[in-house]
Parts: sequence; C-alpha cells; structure tokens
Amino acid sequence: MNHLVLVITEQRDGALRQVSLEAVAAARLIAGDGGTVVALVAGSEAASHIAMLTAAGADRIAFAADPVPELSAHTERHLRAAAEAVRQIRPTAVVLGHTASGKDMAPRLAAQLGAGQLSDVIQIERSGDSVSFTRPIYAGKAFEKRSFSKLPWVVTIRPNNFKPAAPYENAADAPATDVTVETVTAPDVPLRTIVKQIAKRTSGKTDLSEAKIVVSGGRGVAGSDGFKPLEQLAEALGGAVGASRGACDAGYCDYSMQIGQTGKVVTPELYIACGISGAIQHLAGMSGSRIIVAINKDPEAPIFKVADYGIVGDLFEIVPLLAEEFKRL
Ligand code: FAD
Repeated sequence: MNHLVLVITEQRDGALRQVSLEAVAAARLIAGDGGTVVALVAGSEAASHIAMLTAAGADRIAFAADPVPELSAHTERHLRAAAEAVRQIRPTAVVLGHTASGKDMAPRLAAQLGAGQLSDVIQIERSGDSVSFTRPIYAGKAFEKRSFSKLPWVVTIRPNNFKPAAPYENAADAPATDVTVETVTAPDVPLRTIVKQIAKRTSGKTDLSEAKIVVSGGRGVAGSDGFKPLEQLAEALGGAVGASRGACDAGYCDYSMQIGQTGKVVTPELYIACGISGAIQHLAGMSGSRIIVAINKDPEAPIFKVADYGIVGDLFEIVPLLAEEFKRL
C-alpha cells in the first residue's frame, strides 16, 4: 500500500527546525516509493521553506496562512490548521517531531481523528505493505517494535534519528523546485487559550535537543562556575551545554539544561559527559548519542559502561585542554 503522509512542520525564529526535515525523511520511509509526502508549513515566511522541504523529500506543500508560524506554545491554534489539513488532504499517516510542541499536538490530533498514535519513534522499517516502528521503552532500557492495525496513524519521531535526503544549512542553499502548493484555511473558531508572550531564556544558543554536539556537566562540576570550561569546550565545538539532574538539583544550572528521563532526550553525534556518574535516569536521555565520551575521576563510574571513549581524570584539567586543542583546529 502506498501512503499519503502529512508532516506537520515547525519553525523557530523564522527558520525551519531540523526535526521537521527529519520528519519529512521519516514520512518518506512510511510513504514508500509510490507514496506521497505533504508538508504543512505555516506563516508569512512559509514560501522560503518550500525548497528545503522539497529537497528533503516532500512532494507537495500545504500552506496554512497563520500569522504565527511558531508551533511552540500555540498548540491549540496550530491544531486547527493541522486538523483542517487532515480534513482536506486525508492522509493515511501524520508525522510530527517529538518536540515539546509535537508531544502536545500529536495526542490531540490523534483523538480528533480517532487514530492510533506512536510516540518517540527512532526507526521505521518497511517490508512490502507492512510498516513497523521502533521506540525506546522503560527509559531506554528496552526497545519495542510496533505497527498499527488501522488507519490513520499519528507518529512523533525523536530528533536526530532520521537523515533528510538533502540537508541544507539554510534555505538559500536549497535548489528551487516546482512543487504543488495548496492552501489550508483553518476555521475561525474561538481559542480557549491565548499565548500573550513567550519569554526565551537561551536565545542565541544552540538548541540542546537538536545540537549535533552536547557537552554535559554533572555534580562533578561542583558549582555554577564549574560550567564555564564546559561552555568554552561547547563553543569551540559549536555545540550546546547540558546537565545531569544532579547538577540542576544542586543549583549549578537551570533545569532547562537537564538531560534524562525527566529532562530532555538528546541524540547528538557526540556527547561529552563531564563529572556525571551515569545513573540510569541520565542514560535514558543520552544513550542514543552516536559517540559518547565520559570524563570522570572515578574509574568505576557507571558512565564508562556506555562510553565509547573514557577519560579517567579531573574534568577541570581535561576539559580546558580539550577546549584549547579544538580552538586550534
Ligand atoms: P553524581 O551521581 O553525584 O555523580 C557525580 C560524578 O562526578 C561522580 O561519578 C564523580 O566521580 C564525578 N566527579 C566528581 N568530581 C569530578 C571531577 N573533578 N572530575 C571528574 N569527575 C568528577 N538524573 C538525570 O541526570 N536526569 C534525569 O532526567 C533524572 N531523572 C530522574 C528521575 C527520577 C524519578 C529519579 C529518582 C532520579 C532521576 N535522576 C535524573 C537522578 C539520577 O538518579 C542521579 O541522581 C543523577 O543523574 C546524578 O547526577 P550526577 O551524575 O551529576 O551526580
């Protein structure tokens, strides 16, 4: 069976989020060779994202004329456009990023459609007509493979697990394409919640959940000043800084940096854990990283069991040395 898959894209500060391009790649896997992928994009900047979305694998674009393209915190408002797109396009599957907004919107959309939902999918396999979805369970201790018994499907995908066909750094690099653009007009029903202001804490810094490199600090940093060498290393590598709950609970950093079972889930190319013991709840948020480097002065620390490279030593000696070396490159 060939699927018609709708991708609900997200933007931040006018730019298309990387996870939305990955969602298009995931949608392509569901759709199969003869299937169709439609990307829903909102806002006045939408036209500039068309080339990126088609380069990543979208066959058609659905444009929602909403003056507020940022999904974040505007779930109810975007749900109207998404639900209308579903009514118009009649997809067999809907794909969203497993982001704060995607997690908020997917169950609401699934409930409206009477659809089944699978969250936090990390792998999609297609064999003939059957499509199966793999997702972590029990805080990443095990994986389950599932498939749907009836249409339509609603799926959220974990960031950094699906590779877009042609990832471009920015819209200007993507070649222009001739693609069908259809308009979606959301019904003007009153909203029950209105977002008046979004206060951003980390503007200008790399988004932790989409960062390709994460340098993370634990209780071993011993204070908020202890994060400074980690920030320098992250800057030298073009990455983001994360933390264990131990560091957050101790007041060394903000909870928005927490990685783990009750924090953010990250799957970067490189994760550098500094002064983090490696509790199972922390591993739940980072064990999917491609390469894990652990720096810890205790050679028995459990983090070394999941690390690809381990450095036994004092982070305050090692991290500045690494930052110096990477700055030189
Ligand atoms: P510690 O376990 O205290 O480890 C500090 C490490 O630093 C030690 O291994 C030590 O050897 C090393 N160290 C100290 N000084 C240095 C130095 N100078 N150089 C190098 N190494 C040094 N935790 C999370 O991280 N994320 C979560 O989402 C999360 N959710 C939780 C949910 C629940 C329900 C519960 C019960 C717990 C949760 N936790 C979570 C907490 C988790 O169990 C651990 O307590 C926490 O991860 C420990 O943080 P840590 O590794 O920074 O601290």
